[in-house]
Amino acid sequence: MENFSRIMKKDPVIQLMKQGEEVFWLNSQKISFEKSMDHCELGQKDVDEAEQGLLRFAPLIQKYFPETEAQNGLIESPLVEIDAMKQRMNETYESALEGKLLLKEDSHLAIAGSVKARGGIYEVLKHTEDLALQHGLLNPGESYARLGEPDAKKFFRNYTVQVGSTGNLGLSIGIISAVLGYRVIVHMSADAKQWKKDLLRSYGVDVREYEGDYGEAVKRGRALSDADPNSYFVDDENSRNLFLGYSVAGKRLQKQLQEMHVTVDEEHPLFVYIPCGVGGAPGGISFGLKQIFKDSVHCFFVEPVEAPCMLLGLATGLHDQISVQDIGLSGKTQADGLAVGRPSAFVGGIMKTMLSGEMTVQDDKLYDYMRDLLETEKIFLEPSACAAFQGPVCENHRAEWNEYLKENGLAEKMKNAVHIVWATGGSLVPKEIREEYIHTK
Ligand SMILES: *Cc1c(COP(=O)(O)O)cnc(C)c1O
Repeated sequence: MENFSRIMKKDPVIQLMKQGEEVFWLNSQKISFEKSMDHCELGQKDVDEAEQGLLRFAPLIQKYFPETEAQNGLIESPLVEIDAMKQRMNETYESALEGKLLLKEDSHLAIAGSVKARGGIYEVLKHTEDLALQHGLLNPGESYARLGEPDAKKFFRNYTVQVGSTGNLGLSIGIISAVLGYRVIVHMSADAKQWKKDLLRSYGVDVREYEGDYGEAVKRGRALSDADPNSYFVDDENSRNLFLGYSVAGKRLQKQLQEMHVTVDEEHPLFVYIPCGVGGAPGGISFGLKQIFKDSVHCFFVEPVEAPCMLLGLATGLHDQISVQDIGLSGKTQADGLAVGRPSAFVGGIMKTMLSGEMTVQDDKLYDYMRDLLETEKIFLEPSACAAFQGPVCENHRAEWNEYLKENGLAEKMKNAVHIVWATGGSLVPKEIREEYIHTK
């Protein structure tokens, strides 16, 4: 790593982060969507391929997970208006939000109950398709429901899928892989919640626990997987397929907005707030949204004050060459899905010219937002997901926000604005744990 005092000078936000303060950072490297796509290794064509892949697997998903029947085997979440929460935020946190406030309920995605049901499941399906084609399990034109037959399941039993996880990625990869027939090993970091490990074990998944953080679990998992030619390691930091699985959210959200008669264009800007861990989920979703809404969508990531790894990577330009521990932060947070000390350099590289900015949030506020949403809308989210509310809440209190509106010619358009808080997890949290969260101060 570079000399510490040189790093601190790269951006004044780093000093504030080091002090554990909540920050609002605007990305000075953001450029127009068109220009940022000039150097991008991925494009809408890749997103469309992922969408097509998911369609091919829809009959199989529907067979194994009947709850997806209403959507013909697609895994997609509701988009709902949360007007009572908007009022609560404006009253309690003086957030002065105008326009519409919507909640994207990836917390309620089928199979894994979190945003990881987008990327994680696509990643495993893609691998499954590769294996099936390579070994002649599918005849041309045959329905993928075929891959759920006993002999196919027996075939997949010869293969192992492994992943390192703070919890939700493990749940998503673990459940889908186990159901398809694979042997599965999930390498869990110390932050992972007990109920997530228990749930995975109930599917017959081999859950291994490590003392260290997420980085340690990934390292051990990768080494073990690399030693076995029949094992596939899901690489949360570098996988293009995982990223593309998340990115299918773009077109699907466009359709949902149209069905709700909500317009997004130059006169009706869209603001999206997504909790960020290693970066794949918020990066992939933002990438997908950018393809569709281009410069009319403004994407913000939210991270815990103790684990703002993506912000640190972007603000320093060092990406995965710096960790939050390097600036004296613990990396520890109640938001287990965001407890990551080092970001994905792949995602940082794509987002550095597309992302509008980042906010950080203190852990105790996550529980306040959780209770607010439960009281006003009767919707439960896990603490990690509640980080997204910090986006709209902090805007009215920050000079940076007005600066952003002015620079982008948005000040007069905010009455027409649409704000989407991306709820990334929660529907699988057991009842007793919900009670515990609700009473956490
Ligand atoms: C994983 C996760 C995120 C962030 O996703 P990354 O790909 O790690 O950035 C956000 N919220 C929840 C609930 C998650 O599980």
